Amino acid sequence: MLHETRPAEPLSGVRDTLSACMQCGTCSASCPNAAFMDMTPRKLWRLAQLGMLDEIERSEAFWLCSSCYTCTLRCPRGLPLTQVMAEIKRVVAVHGGRTGRRHGNFYRLFLNNVEKYGRVQESTLMTCYLAAMGSPSLALSFAPVGLKLAAKGKMHPPHSAMKGTLKPLFAKVREMEARS
Ligand code: SF4
Ligand code: SF4
Repeated sequence: MLHETRPAEPLSGVRDTLSACMQCGTCSASCPNAAFMDMTPRKLWRLAQLGMLDEIERSEAFWLCSSCYTCTLRCPRGLPLTQVMAEIKRVVAVHGGRTGRRHGNFYRLFLNNVEKYGRVQESTLMTCYLAAMGSPSLALSFAPVGLKLAAKGKMHPPHSAMKGTLKPLFAKVREMEARS
């Protein structure tokens, strides 16, 4: 179980949780997204055990975790690996450098967007994301993609939120996370 109190060192809770990892690689072999990651979950656990936050932040592996729970179900040590992935995302978003904060902002706003609209609403998501980042150069870097999508009729105006569809689900997850 991850620590509830704020750790003295950002990865200390993750490191304690992973202390029984024997580096067997079952998690990596089971992960459906491992082929798209720039390092395997097994290697990520090792870096976390060593407290190497900078190395972890340079990777995008944990952002590609889709929380499918396969690794958690198959780990012979019974480690809560999906929860660890979520904690690594949180630690990098809070304690990481600019790249970590950028990915963290996008991740948080993506979930807020899905909770509000019932599915992702691209134009609203990007407006919120660019406003949160406050970087004119970042906004300009997305302009060519936006223009291309608009030319192909792929930019839709915000649709009304799906009233209540996903809010109970998100509320339940928050409740469970508060208990864990
Ligand atoms: S399956 Fe469990 S014990 Fe094996 S490498 Fe992954 S986390 Fe470690
Ligand atoms: S929970 Fe994440 S890391 Fe684990 S198997 Fe699924 S996608 Fe891979």
